[in-house]
Amino acid sequence: MQWLKRGRANDSLTGQGAIMGSKTKKVLDYSCANKLCRICESGRSKGKDPAYHDCRQNHKGSSKSMEPEVGVSLFNDAPNYEVKYSVFIGDDDSSTTAKIHEEVGYNVEKWSDSSHATRTLVSHLHKIKSEKNSLPGESVFSQKVIDYFQKCFSYCLTQNKGDQEKMRKSLIAIVPHAFGEHKTCEENRLSWCKWLQNPDTYSHKDLSNGKDLTGEHLKKNLTITLLLTNLLKMLPRSQSNESLHSTVGSKVPKIRFYGGSESADQRIAAAVAQTNLGKQYLVDTLYRADIEPGQITEQKTAMIDYERDAGQKRKSSVEFKKQQCLRSFVDFLEDSKGSCDKIVLIGHNSASFDTHILLRTIQEYSPELLHTMKELNIHFADSLILFRNLIKEKHAGLKQDDGSFVKIKSRSALQTPVRN
Ligand SMILES: [Zn+2]
Ligand SMILES: [Zn+2]
Repeated sequence: MQWLKRGRANDSLTGQGAIMGSKTKKVLDYSCANKLCRICESGRSKGKDPAYHDCRQNHKGSSKSMEPEVGVSLFNDAPNYEVKYSVFIGDDDSSTTAKIHEEVGYNVEKWSDSSHATRTLVSHLHKIKSEKNSLPGESVFSQKVIDYFQKCFSYCLTQNKGDQEKMRKSLIAIVPHAFGEHKTCEENRLSWCKWLQNPDTYSHKDLSNGKDLTGEHLKKNLTITLLLTNLLKMLPRSQSNESLHSTVGSKVPKIRFYGGSESADQRIAAAVAQTNLGKQYLVDTLYRADIEPGQITEQKTAMIDYERDAGQKRKSSVEFKKQQCLRSFVDFLEDSKGSCDKIVLIGHNSASFDTHILLRTIQEYSPELLHTMKELNIHFADSLILFRNLIKEKHAGLKQDDGSFVKIKSRSALQTPVRN
């Protein structure tokens, strides 16, 4: 669901809102707000009543109030067609969201991208808290720690809004930062990490005694939780909005003003029809108006629509193949699990590579599998870390024929077979 606005919000003379189905990507309803009518205006300036005309002036308040008012009226109109919109997906901070909550006559559940994600994170954190007693040497997972992560997470979402890559970099630094490891902060030059400015005197403002958190197990658990929540957040919403946006843009170019007459409304109607039906809307409309569209128009529109559908089918068949692939992978895990209580997926350098890609692909194509994976109690391990530790500890299996030990980064580390 989305609202479109033309011009700057605070001085625009026209505005329009559309409700889109989040799965069908079709426009369910739309409405336009017009502040000005040229004919009424010119009548008024001459001190006369305007002649009869198709007046589209329907908005009296400020331009800023257009968006929320259009939104509320669309929601309140729905019951006239015997439907209700039960969920509204929108931005946290929009006035439309607040107004829908206040003025719509039936119950609408609000899903915003970021509050939805933060809620999911907090419930995962509470689960960690209830499930475990801290191991020796591990920080107590208190309410204070939960609050700390919630704060970092929502800060990260608001600060990096609209920049997925920056958001990802910032998110993966949160857990190590709390555990006193600032390598990721440093590599990505994260401005919120105050340790970077003052490594000697830095202490965490919101953690007990300002101390770093401790405990490898806790750290791993938190890393996975944060990663999963981040992935859940990415609802594929903006693409369909963008497509309507650009179609409206092509019919109602911003450089011209159509809002003084019925033209703007009709152009927006055309954009909505094209979004839902394709170019075929043009031929249908002409027939309805008893106008023969002509052979070339009919052929050309059919061709454009055919190409559009073919492109979409290609895309969805790639999607389908990926979904099948992921499904069979999870089925394989399920079959292999037997009576074991957990599965550990091990990869070399997988913590910074394979695991991310796997989880991201699942989220993109089959998010429902994440739930199954959680139920299967799947863990991820990185053999690179294991090998580094074995080398550091001078494990007996790594002793070479000349009595020396394999060193980190040495080529022989790759060649020497490990003996138990
Ligand atoms: Zn008028
Ligand atoms: Zn840091």
